[in-house]
Amino acid sequence: MKKILIVEDVEMNRDLLVQLLEDCYQLFEADSGPRGLELARHERPDLILLDISLPGMDGYEVARQLRADPDLRRVPLIAVTAHAMAGDQERIFAQGFDDYVAKPIDEEELWAKVEKHLP
Ligand SMILES: [Mg+2]
Repeated sequence: MKKILIVEDVEMNRDLLVQLLEDCYQLFEADSGPRGLELARHERPDLILLDISLPGMDGYEVARQLRADPDLRRVPLIAVTAHAMAGDQERIFAQGFDDYVAKPIDEEELWAKVEKHLP
């Protein structure tokens, strides 16, 4: 079973992602950027879903650190964000994300993007 790491501070949003993905993937959950980095280094997920708006270390900084880590720089990284306006999209891609899923989460969009980026 492929591993997906979910980094999202809001429990309700995490629970929704878990509910949608748990039957087909082994999931790891983090409620903060630092915890997400720790789990990523420990579990080596096949894909990471990363909230942009995290308290403290935001998703952009988490992405920067993942991309600076030789062991994790190639892991597909999907932003999960309510901020998906044009400028935000550019920043998301410029920051090393492979894709993004807009909030509120659309189940079909989530599945399409997860499957597209999983090796
Ligand atoms: Mg958030």
